[in-house]
Amino acid sequence: MRPELLFPLFADVSDLPGIGPRIEKALAHLTGKRILDLLWHLPTGFIDRRFSPPVSGMVDGRVATLTVKIIAHKKPPNKRVPYRVICKDETGELPLVFFHGDGGYLRRMLPEGEERIVSGTVEFYNGLPQMTHPDYIVKPDEEDEIPAIEPVYPLTAGVTGKTLQKAIGGAMKRLPEMPEWLDSAYQAQHSWPAWKQALTIAHYPENAAALDPQTPARQRLAYDELLANQLALALVRERSRKRRGRALACGHQLRAKVLRALPFSLTPSQLQAIAEIDGDLAADSAMLRLLQGDVGSGKTIVAFLAMLTAVEAGFQAAFLAPTEILARQHYQGLLPLAGLAGMEIRLLTGRNKGKSRQKILDGLKNGEIQILIGTHALIQQDVAYRDLAFAVVDEQHRFGVYQRLALAEKARIPPDILVMTATPIPRTLTLTLYGDMDVTKIPERPPGRKPIDTRVVTLARLQDVIEGVGRAIGRGERAYWVCPLVEESEVIDLAAAEERHGHLKAYFGDKVGVVHGRMKGPEKDAVMADFMAGRIQILVATTVIEVGVDVPEATIMVIEHAERFGLAQLHQLRGRVGRGDKASTCLLLRSPDISDTARARLKIMRESDDGFRIAEEDLKLRGAGELLGTKQSGFPEFHLADLAVHTDLLRAAWDDARYIIAKDPNLFSERGRALRVLLYLFERDGAVKYLKSG
Ligand code: ADP
Ligand code: MG
Repeated sequence: MRPELLFPLFADVSDLPGIGPRIEKALAHLTGKRILDLLWHLPTGFIDRRFSPPVSGMVDGRVATLTVKIIAHKKPPNKRVPYRVICKDETGELPLVFFHGDGGYLRRMLPEGEERIVSGTVEFYNGLPQMTHPDYIVKPDEEDEIPAIEPVYPLTAGVTGKTLQKAIGGAMKRLPEMPEWLDSAYQAQHSWPAWKQALTIAHYPENAAALDPQTPARQRLAYDELLANQLALALVRERSRKRRGRALACGHQLRAKVLRALPFSLTPSQLQAIAEIDGDLAADSAMLRLLQGDVGSGKTIVAFLAMLTAVEAGFQAAFLAPTEILARQHYQGLLPLAGLAGMEIRLLTGRNKGKSRQKILDGLKNGEIQILIGTHALIQQDVAYRDLAFAVVDEQHRFGVYQRLALAEKARIPPDILVMTATPIPRTLTLTLYGDMDVTKIPERPPGRKPIDTRVVTLARLQDVIEGVGRAIGRGERAYWVCPLVEESEVIDLAAAEERHGHLKAYFGDKVGVVHGRMKGPEKDAVMADFMAGRIQILVATTVIEVGVDVPEATIMVIEHAERFGLAQLHQLRGRVGRGDKASTCLLLRSPDISDTARARLKIMRESDDGFRIAEEDLKLRGAGELLGTKQSGFPEFHLADLAVHTDLLRAAWDDARYIIAKDPNLFSERGRALRVLLYLFERDGAVKYLKSG
């Protein structure tokens, strides 16, 4: 359970004074709905209001705070001229200028003959200073209402700087004193302040240098976040390590049968990958291995051959895929091979309901079913195996660490786990995602693949593209036509796909089909089956086809508004073609006017077919979250740490986490108890579950 100490931080922002429903909604969009989320929203600048000279000492363009006497209000003759309030001190005159000023209001704020403190930016006109729209106007005894230093935060529509400042100011008043979770020697060595103090320094920068991510305060906050991440991963890992796995050994009879029947021979890197996995399976510890291979490198067959080992040794295997289409395709592809090996393979997705589902669950429970392929449906509570020994997680970045664990928990004895991804993840990111997972790479693709000709074309040339697609289908080839992901609105996505479908139908009639995420399962299958069989030759789709789909006859990939996609995503999509023996083309359709960055990104796609290079370039241009598609991935979102600058801290956090686990595996010591608070603070509640209570 979350420690009481943290309750105030997890309260809703509407708890804070002055936050109504409208602001709450805007804040929820910008930062999050909880007070905690406000704390993680660090300033990117500041205003220093401490400069406070007399009028004669004003500096052009600088923010100043000073006491003046109000002399006269000057109402403008017409709306184009601003309203002016003449003020002065002993050294000179300072007009306050208001565009579209409301005289009544201004007279109340600035009564003639009285004194006020004003603060704002001073500008000179014809050598004379004036202040346009002061940020603050207060009575002489209210000086405290003007902050000496004011943080400037990144904003969003619906929230003004002042509102956000006030909200965060309110949040800062609720900071509890935290027990110290840092190692004291390490903390002292870096001169890092305590947590509360670090947050205070970070939110109220005194100078430009204080905004640097490498200041002690900001480093500390980043380290806390990275430590929570690494400690959670280490706890999860420790948990599976401590429990012995099982040695899976067999004579590989089934594998030999399948290999004889395959229409191709395995590449050296596939063989190498299988050898590494075999080594892990034969050992009695539980395997946790990442198989990383570019799109089309042939990971599926490697996973299947490994599953056969588990089956031949007398156990069951599970294969988890991120989408229904992909699960179905794996099932259909592997079904004949499973037939050769004489084993029972089944598919379980959200679509299996009632009796059909029950039948599968029964078969799993009594051991009839040896391999189960499926979607998230595999990890539902009531899915139980007779004896699961091996689990494969395809397109791992689509799943979170806890989904992987939920699958593993279904085994009596910790199973061997193989996770697979085509997204080449730069090394720093691997560490935050997996801690110290073993990695196998498949660097080469099967022989005979033709390179894909990638072209960037503006949408203005849509007609030419349609004609080009027409020529290709005239030759009996097939094409994908992907419509863009429109931010946050699946509905608009569908509208775009359906509109394009209608448009293309006018040219190609029944040869065009459409598939998208909102369609019912059987409808989707029917369209995919038609495309695979060639009954339709053009498949209009949203990104549901992004991962894994394998139709070798497809030679053209058209992607509309390619500039809206991540490069890794484009690379995945492009990987849907070039799978057969014919030359393939990828057409990236872009808006006529796009930013330079977008242009640069599309250029990389044209120049490179190397998933690794593409990912690294994308990381440089867009940052980690974007690269992996943070929203849907298991990738942790960091608020305080920036992986581009805090790489050293990540390393240190990794070491620290391992040290902590070795010394105090259940976090019972004084530091250990403080670390529990840290885990809750960064919402790693899932990891705390693995600790003994006490
Ligand atoms: P990915 O690694 O992207 O998941 P797949 O496993 O879907 O790739 O394999 C892509 C295609 O390559 C499949 O049609 C598969 O049958 C084929 N394939 C796999 N290994 C080889 C090989 N060694 N030689 C030729 N084709 C292969
Ligand atoms: Mg795949």
